[in-house]
Amino acid sequence: MLVDLIDGQCRSCGSQLKIVAADDATMDVECTNEECCDSYTVEIDAFEDGGIKYWPQVMAASGHEAWE
Ligand SMILES: [Zn+2]
Repeated sequence: MLVDLIDGQCRSCGSQLKIVAADDATMDVECTNEECCDSYTVEIDAFEDGGIKYWPQVMAASGHEAWE
């Protein structure tokens, strides 16, 4: 899922990020800028949402129970 620019941007170029995977402690993100294509791992509370907006949705989307 895409990360709103107000919540966080690519650490390399400042473009929009896409969350591609998540586990109990981290999320894997990819830059949507094709000329950058940076991908890296962040903490679940790395964005301005405090870990309550993106992470549970990504976990749910990937078939995990977010709140066990
Ligand atoms: Zn980038």
